[in-house]
Amino acid sequence: MSAERFDVIIVGAGPAGIFTALELTQKHPALRILMIEKGRSIEERVCPLKTKAVSCLACPECALLSGWGGAGAYSDGKLSLSRFVGGNLARYVGDAALDSLIHEADETYIKFGAPGVVHGEPDDRLRALQDMAARNELTLVASPVRHIGTDVCFDVLTRMKEHLSGRVEMLFRCGAASIIVKDGRTQGVETCDGRRFIADYVVLAPGREGSRWLDDEAARLGLTRLTNPVDIGVRVELPAAVMEHLTSVTYEPKLIYRTRRFDDQVRTFCVNPYGEVVKEHLKDVWTVNGHSYAGRTSDNTNFALLVSTTFTEPFDEPIQYGRHIAQLANFLGRGVIVQRLGDLQHGRRSTQERIDRGLVRPTLLDATPGDLSFVLPYRHLADIMEMLEALDRIAPGVNSRHTLLYGVEVKFYSRQFRLSESLETEVAGLFAAGDGAGVSRGLIQASASGLVAAREIMGRVVDGD
Ligand SMILES: Cc1cc2nc3c(=O)[nH]c(=O)nc-3n(C[C@H](O)[C@H](O)[C@H](O)COP(=O)(O)OP(=O)(O)OC[C@H]3O[C@@H](n4cnc5c(N)ncnc54)[C@H](O)[C@@H]3O)c2cc1C
Repeated sequence: MSAERFDVIIVGAGPAGIFTALELTQKHPALRILMIEKGRSIEERVCPLKTKAVSCLACPECALLSGWGGAGAYSDGKLSLSRFVGGNLARYVGDAALDSLIHEADETYIKFGAPGVVHGEPDDRLRALQDMAARNELTLVASPVRHIGTDVCFDVLTRMKEHLSGRVEMLFRCGAASIIVKDGRTQGVETCDGRRFIADYVVLAPGREGSRWLDDEAARLGLTRLTNPVDIGVRVELPAAVMEHLTSVTYEPKLIYRTRRFDDQVRTFCVNPYGEVVKEHLKDVWTVNGHSYAGRTSDNTNFALLVSTTFTEPFDEPIQYGRHIAQLANFLGRGVIVQRLGDLQHGRRSTQERIDRGLVRPTLLDATPGDLSFVLPYRHLADIMEMLEALDRIAPGVNSRHTLLYGVEVKFYSRQFRLSESLETEVAGLFAAGDGAGVSRGLIQASASGLVAAREIMGRVVDGD
């Protein structure tokens, strides 16, 4: 059977893959493009978490992360419109180019139905908060956010699919198994069912879900692989009023602190005003995360506090390290552990009775009351407690004994590879974009990275390279 030929093959239909396709089809409608996605089409994606009737059921095929829209489909849909947030794309394209790419990607989200309001544009109120943070050894990063909301984000990505249907060919429920390379040039892709598709250009955008596969393929092809950090911490939940003066100005306050004891960086991440804490199943481990919904609110705000570590040689297994810590919480708590901060400070576990006596009603109902000091390494725990004290100086109430800590939250970063400024790997014609290649860590930079790869390919198609 002869292999089918395309001009461009895109692996993964998350934001990076979708924006590659949007850009190519807009500028070169005649190109023959194939998108290969191992998950389902968006209208067939059903994640049990979406109904909130249950917690994550750890389905064999994860509809939260896989399928049209990738991890973006059920994401909070917060577009971080700052180059300082959500990835490393500036390292490849430079600051000015990234600013302009973020603007273009944002415009596209608006075109497909993203709401027009941006929270946290720099103004006098924000500058006053930044000054207050600075006086308390914290850095408040200005980070305007367009909040699409989980439910609307799904609709936006659905419209993108409708727009691309008929313009590109789409293959669902069929993952890329291997990249075909000959004489240092890409030739195409072989899928899990053994079919071969030929193309001069292949864009790999498999997201975090496909990062292990990408790393294995990179090792097989002899690409240069770089070391990546791991972020470990807890999710904090407290009354929304405690953070209101920050979240009403910045929506998602990104605060960074360097600890006195270990000189480690601790940061807030993924702040969800009036949101909910959720459990997440990441390939055999339970971790914790947070959501906010456009049409549903709670009385609480939740956010992650993460300690970032980059190990040095000979250790090169940061993902395994993070997994072991998450597994320890799962081992002790049969899932995610929740603890009142006051119990942690007094060296005792939380029990259901103690949680019930607290002022904060947990939004994640099936976390096990327990003791995070049996789980987190001393260094991480000390860093987190120091950060809570620092935050309390600008938001009194954060370090309250009633504050809830859920553990653990872990952010694994995909392996990074040596890439050119247009995101081409060391194999000619083979590009890597989005979270899977460690280029991005969020919707907007993932989308922008798709634009970068698409533009380089278009330039070469026009030049006949
Ligand atoms: C719960 C949650 C909430 C989030 N909230 C936000 C937020 O508010 N704001 C924000 O900026 N970011 C958020 N993110 C992160 C954001 O979703 C990602 O940064 C973004 O989706 C990355 O885009 P991507 O295209 O690189 O990868 P993905 O969106 O992960 O898409 C990759 C796709 O590739 C497919 N794939 C993998 N391997 C293969 C293979 N071998 N063959 C074929 N297909 C393959 C996958 O099935 C997946 O559909 C959130 C993520 C999660 C999980």
